Amino acid sequence: MSKEPTIEEYIQNIEDKQFRAYQCGGCGAIIAPPQGCCYTCGGTEFKWTQVSGKGTLVSFTVIHIAPDEFQNEAPYIVGIVDLDEGTRITARLLGWDPNTPKEIEVGTKLVLDYEESDVGRTHLAFRAA
Ligand SMILES: [Zn+2]
Repeated sequence: MSKEPTIEEYIQNIEDKQFRAYQCGGCGAIIAPPQGCCYTCGGTEFKWTQVSGKGTLVSFTVIHIAPDEFQNEAPYIVGIVDLDEGTRITARLLGWDPNTPKEIEVGTKLVLDYEESDVGRTHLAFRAA
């Protein structure tokens, strides 16, 4: 494991179902997805940190028209999730029907999961806790 986290490792960790976030060496802020500098203190030194995988749904949308790569997976739900550690990420939402989005409630407590696509990619995903 290298000391300096990279975006390539971040993506590989998701593929390996071992999601981790950056932690700022300056102020300890938890950061995901990767940024060039800490959005709290502007620091540029990071290390990997484990996160609980718990979060809260902030917003969501149903994707009907997807990028070519994901078109055969549409419709699917993409949510904005506040992790308990204090960073905000975008991920698929699982366990709801994208055809009945009114059943999805903002504020729902979520837990980290993963979704494997038809083309063998792994996406970050969350489902209701
Ligand atoms: Zn910082």
